[in-house]
Amino acid sequence: VTTTGKPDISREKSAELFEKAKTYFPGGVNSPVRAFKSVYGTPLFIQKGDGCHVWDADGNQFVDFCCSWGPLILGHNNAKVREKVIEVMQHGMSFGAPTALENDLAELILKNNKFIEKIRFVSSGTEAVMSAIRLARGYTKRDKILKFEGCYHGHVDALLVKAGSGLVTFGETSSAGIPKAFADETIVVSLNDRDALKKAFEEFKDQIAAVIIEPIPANNGLLLQEKEFLQFIREICTENKTLLIFDEVISGFRISFEGAAGYYQIKPDIITYGKIIGGGMPVGAYGASKEIMSNISPEGAVYQAGTLSGNPVAMGAGIAQLSELLRLGFYRDLNNKTEEFVASIQRFATARNYKFKVFSVGSIFWFAFTDLEHVRKAEEIDPTSMEKFKLMHRELLNRGIYLGPSGYEVGFISSAHTKVELEKAKRAIFESLDLVF
Ligand code: PLP
Repeated sequence: VTTTGKPDISREKSAELFEKAKTYFPGGVNSPVRAFKSVYGTPLFIQKGDGCHVWDADGNQFVDFCCSWGPLILGHNNAKVREKVIEVMQHGMSFGAPTALENDLAELILKNNKFIEKIRFVSSGTEAVMSAIRLARGYTKRDKILKFEGCYHGHVDALLVKAGSGLVTFGETSSAGIPKAFADETIVVSLNDRDALKKAFEEFKDQIAAVIIEPIPANNGLLLQEKEFLQFIREICTENKTLLIFDEVISGFRISFEGAAGYYQIKPDIITYGKIIGGGMPVGAYGASKEIMSNISPEGAVYQAGTLSGNPVAMGAGIAQLSELLRLGFYRDLNNKTEEFVASIQRFATARNYKFKVFSVGSIFWFAFTDLEHVRKAEEIDPTSMEKFKLMHRELLNRGIYLGPSGYEVGFISSAHTKVELEKAKRAIFESLDLVF
């Protein structure tokens, strides 16, 4: 029985599947957060998704705000994406040779994105980031990379590094198995901290190949930055002949078709993509100017390859999904819908004096248990507030709402979230907040 007196959803089948999965996979999962370690209960095994809903193995139905962690901007099982995938699959699934579909997806992107001139498709966001870093190092002939605390860039060795308490910290990795020598090449500074950035550039003059940032940091809560800070990064990179990499694996095609670069009108040197670009299939990409991209093999000396890169089925899914995003008013409607949803939750919480904020941009939102007007740095998040999230997550599941199983993760709204479902979700959120506070 939960705090509400409402019984917990049944998880018998999910629990059974999880027990079995634990015998096959470390921790029972193929990606760690899925294990529900920081929320209540065993993970839900999802059986199907349609529109804004998912159903688990026990038959529970949820309005889904995780959306596969971002890719499903059109919701689950979108008919256009599904039909395109089936059409492509009828002619084979992989050739390891070029196909016209790669051209079609590239054309769709490049014609509608003024920030990159050439692109290379890979199979995940991690791969995109890893390749972008190699490209930056090859291009600048420098070794060091600067990242920001709280930004996640996939499980790339050099980027699984976090900051300690100092302004500029080296080598404290966030994972075992990363040679200190790799981590030593990574400089970590706090977000929203110009002085730390300046200091790093002074200390490591002519050594920094690239600064990488999620321009909309969305992996440690939603740490929205001021445009001026992003502009400052752009300027300091230009002055120091350091490449600026925007990791837009989440924000790309989410905030606008041109992602955060378009939203802020700031031109990075390299952009990485993932998630939405593949319509729910495994695709990542990185792009830059023709000049920078000419360094990639076989044109240039920076090697990067992939058996399944540009996979036709995945390209088909991407083409179908991105074509929908280019429809007039797509982002306006999606963003307006999110804004209304978020504003009404915030009004509710504020009226009741709850220590609760909903931060949002475009169709991304984050529930934060804080009094702060802005949370711009990872260090500003109170870890004890995650206990409240845990309670809320449980109450929401019991009311048919599925959020990603961690208080540090953001939620996503898709075009398939109808007003009726969002109203229902709001009521569930209000009830849960009343119970948490
Ligand atoms: N970069 C960012 C900003 C991400 O959010 C993620 C994944 O969540 C990645 C990179 C890694 O992408 P993937 O999980 O597809 O390897």
